[in-house]
Amino acid sequence: MNYEKQYYEYDGFWSDYETSYKNNIEKINISFEFIQPDVKTILDAACGNGIFTNMLIEKYPDLKVVAFDRSEAALKYVKAEKFIAEINQMPFKDAQFDCVVAHDVIEHLPVGVYEQALKEIARVAKKYIIIGVPNDEKVLDRSTQCPSCKAIFNYDLHMRSFSKEKMNDLFSAYGFKCKQIRTCDKNTFFIGHKWYVNIFYSEQKKEFKAPICPICGYSEVAPERFSNVGHRAIVNNKTATGLFAKLKQIPKAIWPKRSFDYEMVALFEK
Ligand SMILES: [Zn+2]
Repeated sequence: MNYEKQYYEYDGFWSDYETSYKNNIEKINISFEFIQPDVKTILDAACGNGIFTNMLIEKYPDLKVVAFDRSEAALKYVKAEKFIAEINQMPFKDAQFDCVVAHDVIEHLPVGVYEQALKEIARVAKKYIIIGVPNDEKVLDRSTQCPSCKAIFNYDLHMRSFSKEKMNDLFSAYGFKCKQIRTCDKNTFFIGHKWYVNIFYSEQKKEFKAPICPICGYSEVAPERFSNVGHRAIVNNKTATGLFAKLKQIPKAIWPKRSFDYEMVALFEK
């Protein structure tokens, strides 16, 4: 059994469209600006629940939009022409699409698959590539431990992090130059928030934060908290009632905070 593949079949990741919209709207708007006037065909690679594709076909009805994902659960929500496929082995011809878009995809890919995926994206893209990833993510800051096999992993299954420098060179081996990089999704967090969470939300730290362990397949009852809350969970945490809960609010109010753009979108051209 491939538990990593099964992880992405968890419907809670895909069914909450409102959260998908909130988490992705800035990145989607930048992508719309990145779509050049000569683009007639677009591939949304590993499209997830189609949050980008579905908005794209509505906004640009004249574009030919094709989408694929490995997850059947995700693909249910996609309204364009769609395929079940793996990103490192796409069922498309060389240069079949004027533009290939991949949002929140390549940070999830393990060694081997990652390299093949970049090659595949460059192969099926005729002229443009648009890539969205977390901006300089500290991957282990959002980790969880499997209660059964004790494996520690990023609970969004992010396996790598991207700086602007890395993005700049991402497709240079395939003749694509990085034309623009923009960051977005500014979020505020507490300085030393790991320390803060350890003290005030120690019970939360112990929770298993994935629907299924990608290593051994361990699974708990699936609560709502897996519905793609991501880094927002730290600041926007729901608080319980009672005196201790009120005390917890005091450091929240006075604690120094810092802002950071959590997402990055890059445009490449051949
Ligand atoms: Zn496990």
